[in-house]
Amino acid sequence: MFDDLIAANRKFAADFDLGGFDGVAHAGVAIVTCMDSRIDPLRMLGLDHGDAKIFRNPGGRVTTAALEALVLGVHLLGVTRILVVPHTRCAMTAHSETELRERVGKSAGQDASWQQFHVIDDQLAALEEDVRKVQAHPLIPDSVEVGGFLYDVDTGLIDHKV
Ligand SMILES: [Zn+2]
Repeated sequence: MFDDLIAANRKFAADFDLGGFDGVAHAGVAIVTCMDSRIDPLRMLGLDHGDAKIFRNPGGRVTTAALEALVLGVHLLGVTRILVVPHTRCAMTAHSETELRERVGKSAGQDASWQQFHVIDDQLAALEEDVRKVQAHPLIPDSVEVGGFLYDVDTGLIDHKV
């Protein structure tokens, strides 16, 4: 099942030139964004390998796990700027929790009514809340810049919202 990917990896490793990195975010950037395959977090900000810490989940939400990553990023990995970047036409804004549970349940052939998906009713309000959550975290100092942006999957532009 993974043969194509392993073969591609062997090619990648044959002229591997990304060794020797220290794991620090060289541009001092951390990005929280959606798992959506239309988003290329590094390229959209003109960044390169090694420049940024990237945390992704459905919707690009600042969850407990995202905050853990950001705290580590700020204190141990050189992060000084945090961008929270949800996007237009996100599936997490397009369906209700009930709809998603029904669709997943249908695909799985079993009850999925217990599964949480954390759909987003109001994307801008959620973004404001998420940015505030980062700013209010006791282990994230005021010296860290935190911004909330909306990425347009049709134009490639980010819009500074918060
Ligand atoms: Zn999305």
